[in-house]
Amino acid sequence: MHKHYDYIIAGAGLAGLSLAFKIKSSPILAGKSILLVDRDTKQKNDRTWCFWSNENELFESIVHKKWSKITYASPSIEKEFDIKPYAYKMIRGIDFYKHTIAYLKEKDGVDFLFDNIKSLNSDHKKAILETDNHKITSNHAFKSYYENIDFSKDIFVWQHFKGIIVQTPTDTFDPNNAHFMDFRVEQDGETRFFYVLPINKREALIEIAVFSSSIPDPSFYDPFIKKYINDTLGISTYEVIEEELGAIPMTTHNFQKKTQDRIIRIGTNGGSVKASSGYAFKRIQEDTDLLVSLIEQNKIKKYNPRNNRFLFYDKIMLDAILSGSTTGETVFTKLFKNLKPQTIFKFLDEKGSFFNDLKIFTAPPTWPFLKSFFRVLR
Ligand SMILES: Cc1cc2nc3c(=O)[nH]c(=O)nc-3n(C[C@H](O)[C@H](O)[C@H](O)COP(=O)(O)OP(=O)(O)OC[C@H]3O[C@@H](n4cnc5c(N)ncnc54)[C@H](O)[C@@H]3O)c2cc1C
Repeated sequence: MHKHYDYIIAGAGLAGLSLAFKIKSSPILAGKSILLVDRDTKQKNDRTWCFWSNENELFESIVHKKWSKITYASPSIEKEFDIKPYAYKMIRGIDFYKHTIAYLKEKDGVDFLFDNIKSLNSDHKKAILETDNHKITSNHAFKSYYENIDFSKDIFVWQHFKGIIVQTPTDTFDPNNAHFMDFRVEQDGETRFFYVLPINKREALIEIAVFSSSIPDPSFYDPFIKKYINDTLGISTYEVIEEELGAIPMTTHNFQKKTQDRIIRIGTNGGSVKASSGYAFKRIQEDTDLLVSLIEQNKIKKYNPRNNRFLFYDKIMLDAILSGSTTGETVFTKLFKNLKPQTIFKFLDEKGSFFNDLKIFTAPPTWPFLKSFFRVLR
C-alpha cells in the first residue's frame, strides 16, 4: 500500500466497485492508481439486484436469471405482461463482487484495504482518509457509504426488505415469469408488496418490501412472508436456503449539494437510488459511466447526475403517497391497469418524452397528484 493515490474509493460495494472497474477499463485512466477501502471483504451474497433493461449490460456475463414476462398483482387485479424489448434481470451480489474484484486484482495500480473508515475529509489539494489503522491521501476521493445525513427537511421514507430463497420439493414456480409487484398483503397504512423471482421450477427469491418511516426488527417480516407463501402462493412445504435483509433511503434530498472540494459522493450516498421506486442498480451504472467520462475530460467538478424534471416528478409521487392522500397500492394498481409496463419503465428510467410523463400522471387518480404538485411547488 502507498501513502498517496490518484483516487481513493471509500466503500467497495456496488457503486465503488463499478466505478473502479470502469476507471480501469478506460484507456485514458487505466494508468491511475486506486485504493478501494471497505470494512467488509465482500465474500457473502448479501443482496440480489433486479432491474429491467432493454440492452446488453456491461455485467451481462454475471446475470443469474432473466425474465421476459412479469406479473403485477393487487387485491383488485392480477395481470401478466410481456415486457419485450425489456427483460427483468437478476444479478447476485456475490457474483458481482467476485467478478469485479477478480478483474481489478489483475490490473496494475489497484490496492484493496479492508478496514473501518473513521473519517474522510479534504482540503483544496487532497482528500484525507483515516481508517482504524491507516492514514492515506489522494487527489480525489469517491465516497459511497453514507453517514449522518439529516433528511428531516426532505421528502423521505425508508424502503426496507427481507428476502428468502426457498426451495420446494416439487415443481412449483413458472421460471419464465417474475412477480414484479404483488400488493396482496395487509397494507396497514404503509406501502407493502412482494416480489417472487423464480430461478427455476423449484427455487425462487421471495421478498417483501415496505415503505415506512423507521426500520423494524428483522422478525417483523416473518409472519407476512409465511402467510404470503402459504395463503397467496398456496405453498405449504418449502425450505429456506438463503436470506437477505436491507434498507435504503427513498428521498429527494440533494446529495450533491454540500460536497467537500476533493470528495465526490457516489451510489446511495450520491443520490443514485431513485426516490420514487428505490431502484438503484441501473442508475448506479449510468451515474458511474457519466462520472468516468467527466474524469476523462478533467471535468470532475461538473458531476451532478440528477435531472430536475424527474426529480420534481419524484417529489410529487413520494409526497402523494407519504402524505396519505393516496396509497402506493392505488398508484401502482392504476398504472398497471391502464398502461403497459414499457411506458412505466421508460418513465422510471427518466427516458420518456413529456407525452409519456403525462400518461403516467393521468393514469392514477389525479387529485392527490395535483395537491402534491402545488405542495411541492410551495
Ligand atoms: C438487500 C438489498 C436489496 C436490494 N435490491 C435491489 C434491487 O433489486 N434493485 C436495485 O436496483 N437496487 C436494489 N437495492 C438498492 C441498491 O442497489 C443497493 O443498496 C446497492 O448496493 C447500493 O450500492 P452502494 O454502492 O451505494 O452501497 P453498498 O453496495 O452498500 O456499498 C457501500 C459499501 O460501503 C461499505 N462501508 C460502509 N461504511 C463503511 C465504513 N465506515 N468503513 C468502511 N466501509 C464502509 C459497506 O461495507 C459497503 O460495501 C437493494 C439494496 C439492498 C440493501
